[in-house]
Amino acid sequence: MLLEEMSWDEVEERLKTTKTIIVPYGSCEAHGFHAPLFTDTKIAFEIALKVAEELDIFVAPAMPYGVCRTTRNFSGTLSLSFDSLKSLTFDLLQELAETGFEQIILFSGHCGKSQLIALREAGFLYTKNSDKSKVFLVSAADLVDERIKKLTESPLYHADELETSLMLFLTPSLVKMDKAIKEVPKIPKYLIKTTGRPWMKSSVLGDAAKATYEKGEKIFNILVKNFIEIVKTF
Ligand SMILES: [Zn+2]
Repeated sequence: MLLEEMSWDEVEERLKTTKTIIVPYGSCEAHGFHAPLFTDTKIAFEIALKVAEELDIFVAPAMPYGVCRTTRNFSGTLSLSFDSLKSLTFDLLQELAETGFEQIILFSGHCGKSQLIALREAGFLYTKNSDKSKVFLVSAADLVDERIKKLTESPLYHADELETSLMLFLTPSLVKMDKAIKEVPKIPKYLIKTTGRPWMKSSVLGDAAKATYEKGEKIFNILVKNFIEIVKTF
């Protein structure tokens, strides 16, 4: 039920059986020396795909860019502005609703504050102007529960034990564990800044070295299960 792989008439036909779609959002963003820039996109996409398979619902093409603030100026981090993400998402919501989707789930693998507020604002604007479709916002962080916290040994922030474990499970050839490090940078909390780079060496916030494939597999299955439970309540 991957929208981009279907023909228009297949979409029209399948819309008779479900009107729910997940729209995965990621980022093109530094994830340490060890993990690829599309880490958030890959994680969001694979979770969305598995949930959609289980529930027989649609998945929209994954959005490869997001609003990245802390990792700006690390080469390869390509951040959208808040307004761009908001207006792009608003356009998408209108188009998806017009296509016939009545439940639109925005699912973000990138959990930066600005990213989530931009998506929420787009959903708010849409909902204020139309009652045709319901819009939901779920982030990967919403799916993390006590079981996952028990499975991991370090606090979870970014390019950390959790994300690195997931990437080891989802795409092991792109993770260089010999370059995975622990870093807990002291980024000034109250200072308004355009990047966190001066306070960071690797762009890791957490302990990527503790990641394993086995943890990744278990974490992935829990995240999928938790997402399914959330979608069932919609
Ligand atoms: Zn990430």
